[in-house]
Amino acid sequence: MKYSITIQSKHFETLKENLIRPDKKERVAFVICGRSIIKDVEERFLSKEVHFIPEDKLITSEYNQVSWHNKYFIDVLKKAEVKNLAIILIHNHPDGVNRFSEIDDDVEYHLFKLAFNRNVGANSHASLILLTEGNFVGRVWKHDLSTEPISMIRIIGDRIKLNYPNQTDEYESPEIFNRQQLAFGRSLIQDLSNLKISIIGAGATGSATALLLTRLGVGELCIIDKDTIEESNLNRLHGATILDVGKFKVDVLQKYIYNIGLGTKVNVVKEWVSNQKCIEQLKTSDIIFGCTDDHAGRIMLNRFAYFYLTPVFDMGLVISVKKHSLELENLQGRISYLFPGSDCLVTKGNINIDIAYSENLRRNEPENFIKLKDEAYVIGEGNPSPAVVTFTTQIATMAVNEFLNRIQGFNPQALNSQHKIFFFHHGIEIFPENVSENECRICGKSNYWGRGDMEPFLDMVI
Ligand SMILES: [Zn+2]
Repeated sequence: MKYSITIQSKHFETLKENLIRPDKKERVAFVICGRSIIKDVEERFLSKEVHFIPEDKLITSEYNQVSWHNKYFIDVLKKAEVKNLAIILIHNHPDGVNRFSEIDDDVEYHLFKLAFNRNVGANSHASLILLTEGNFVGRVWKHDLSTEPISMIRIIGDRIKLNYPNQTDEYESPEIFNRQQLAFGRSLIQDLSNLKISIIGAGATGSATALLLTRLGVGELCIIDKDTIEESNLNRLHGATILDVGKFKVDVLQKYIYNIGLGTKVNVVKEWVSNQKCIEQLKTSDIIFGCTDDHAGRIMLNRFAYFYLTPVFDMGLVISVKKHSLELENLQGRISYLFPGSDCLVTKGNINIDIAYSENLRRNEPENFIKLKDEAYVIGEGNPSPAVVTFTTQIATMAVNEFLNRIQGFNPQALNSQHKIFFFHHGIEIFPENVSENECRICGKSNYWGRGDMEPFLDMVI
């Protein structure tokens, strides 16, 4: 069983600002968190709201001690209980001691005992120490008042920052990654080796993405796709040969990646993204790449990024020619970085709701779909769309570099643009800004950000 925490970067910034001050006193904060639970696999806390106790209401706030009335903890507990949310208790250690003191043990034991007594059978809570450099030490408090270590803390914003035990600047990366280390240093390789990344779609862009992430040294991949390989895919599918026609795309990629021999762990799922097996993989991933033309799948991924604070790098490529002539009309690529703080794909107009509806109908009610298609009520499957390997591979490479920049930060200016559109036939790039006064329920308001598990899933009524 693994425990982890994801914190929105705006929450992290307020925590640092309010807890770490020049006067070097201990202070305290409570973070209300959504929960993401896969039984016996991973329990994840997702930051939703930060609460501070007003300075003049602290009983003591000294160099190595902070105390306060239980009332403030109970107030936050009451708010959290309504939706079965979790609480993370955070205090700072100005002296830099990176472990819980005996006083911490005692205070936290009694507080969490109070929490569990109020709410019998409740799920876990957690506590963190914020150190002066902005690093965390943490643990989970379980219902029986035993504690467990936290294996990963992610801070998600324009940058993606990771905190995990044994993280070190002196990391000895495997020899194979020497050339990459020369460019970007040791810590990037250690970070990548600790990540689990899911790739939705194992077609032209998905196969390229999977192989690039493998060679970068990502520790674990999950590749999701239900399709088998057709001969007509071989002009753009990386890792596939003529002998693979008829096999599942994900199986062929998995074998290819194992044969590369970098030790990458690869899980595969042969289902649509809305299937429960896929959802379990997504909920245990650190990052997601959207490499599909599937609009129904995109609607789900689009919500998932905000509900579960899991960054989604979504990519798309459109090639079209003019009717009745072979003249190129459009050759356009898109990369979108979705996280709480960027506009979502619905707001940006990248999801076609009509296509999504007909895709869902075709999968869930095939007979009804045929009937409605005959009556021209839904969009049928059109002619195959044009695809050219150099451009599908290019957009995949750009998306992976986008991810790399958000982890490593080699191009600080590019971090401000979460949406990037490339007109390859004109050599034009457009970086649309976030819309102002955004009313979108997903990306415009923060109610869903970090909400995690709820009924119905993603508050989606299908
Ligand atoms: Zn939106």
